[in-house]
Amino acid sequence: MRVLVTGGAGYIGSVTTAMLLGAGHDVTVLDDLSTGHRDAVPDRARFVEADVRAAGDVLARERFDAVMHFAARSLVGDSVADPADYWHTNVGGTTALLDAVRAHGVGRFVFSSTAAVYGDPAAIPIRETSETRPTNPYGASKLAVDHMIGSYATAYGLAAVSLRYFNVAGAHAGLGERHARETHLIPLVLEVARGLREHIVIHGTDWDTPDGTCIRDYIHIADLARAHLLALDAAVPGRHEVCNLGNGTGFSVREVVDTARQVTGHPIPSREGPRRAGDPAVLVAAAEHAAEFLGWRPELPDLAGIIADAWAFHSAPGTPADTAPGER
Ligand code: UDP
Repeated sequence: MRVLVTGGAGYIGSVTTAMLLGAGHDVTVLDDLSTGHRDAVPDRARFVEADVRAAGDVLARERFDAVMHFAARSLVGDSVADPADYWHTNVGGTTALLDAVRAHGVGRFVFSSTAAVYGDPAAIPIRETSETRPTNPYGASKLAVDHMIGSYATAYGLAAVSLRYFNVAGAHAGLGERHARETHLIPLVLEVARGLREHIVIHGTDWDTPDGTCIRDYIHIADLARAHLLALDAAVPGRHEVCNLGNGTGFSVREVVDTARQVTGHPIPSREGPRRAGDPAVLVAAAEHAAEFLGWRPELPDLAGIIADAWAFHSAPGTPADTAPGER
């Protein structure tokens, strides 16, 4: 298929682009490089440096079978402190994109949604039918887009799938996580192991969990990206399917730090800090729907393996992970 990937210079978008190319698809990446890296875009993909709101220009020039939409603001803490960009980029950007998709007759749409739409869930594991009560503007903006996509699918016949990611980590095909300002647990822990930080701060040790720290469901980037290719094929005109993507197993912050100590052989000192605004205590997926609808099953569910792949990426000599903040 001819696929337009928005946000294809970012972590998840670039790995998915590499997999799409590997599967024989024809890929154009659209990214404004506000948080992505030009050198993360695989060579065989065409690249357009532009805001997602300009996607209409690309869709007008040539025919596309599908759009995969990753371009977004995606940090929970930032969205609480400065929500404007989250509404403008995530909701405004997607509105413009969906209108262009409709205007130019693109049939398929796969969206990067998130477990943050569920907020502090009443029951674990979280199903797609669970109540959605996001605890931060990031999750709220993604939920608004899920609703928007659903209505476009029903009214205009779009074949759409929203994939609700739990905590993505690891690396694949030489592509990994490298944010100019890192806030995610696993890359930060690995920065401590590389000697770039003195310690990791645990955000809250008074949560209602067995060891007092937050529990998350960590999923390998390769498993996650593979689900996007399956979604492309499984999408049905006039339907909007929503699938959780997780392993169904939760690990606490302390367990992640301990596992990283084992994987890296570094003591990784930790300090206890206050809770981070917008964090729910526990997020663990029920991913049966992804198994049924997409035929997807995680192949790399082992936390130590996920961290080992991230570690191989971050500790490789001359790794792109060494890119200084702000550099591309
Ligand atoms: N976390 C932490 N210290 C850090 C970064 C994250 O304790 O320096 C915690 C965070 O509060 C959350 C978990 O690790 O409970 C996963 O956070 P991350 O930012 O990786 O992903 P999120 O769950 O926000 O998508």
